[in-house]
Amino acid sequence: MKIMVSACLLGRRCKYNGGDNYNEAVAAYTRGHEVIPVCPEVAGGLSVPRPPCEIVGGVVMNADGENVDKAFRDGASRCVRMAQEQHIDLAILQPRSPSCGVHQIYDGTFSGRRIEGSGVFASMLCAHGFRVVDAEDIEKGECS
Ligand code: SF4
Repeated sequence: MKIMVSACLLGRRCKYNGGDNYNEAVAAYTRGHEVIPVCPEVAGGLSVPRPPCEIVGGVVMNADGENVDKAFRDGASRCVRMAQEQHIDLAILQPRSPSCGVHQIYDGTFSGRRIEGSGVFASMLCAHGFRVVDAEDIEKGECS
């Protein structure tokens, strides 16, 4: 299988705070497959580190009140094009990110509250017909 993976899940330090989200279950699941790591926020030109961002009324804003929607959408589009060119079979994405979240995101108030919804990149991949799963689905063994 060709699997696109949120790069932070594989240990790349591309998270907003300069850290990563290394996930052993994802690393184990993808072993032996062709892995394509992507970070749509970095692909959109955002720096590491960067202020945290949330989706506020459909628009991605950072915690400093700046509109970063275009960078998020440009980066997501670039990564979707890569998924199309590479003919990926599956994408495994980081939970709750405003880009990569699959089932839940934060509610736009920067207070840690979660709501049902998905990030910009995850939504775009789904809209293009790709199979997208959350890293927590892999941890729970809910992806075969
Ligand atoms: S945009 Fe996705 S890949 Fe990049 S740091 Fe955030 S969750 Fe990880």
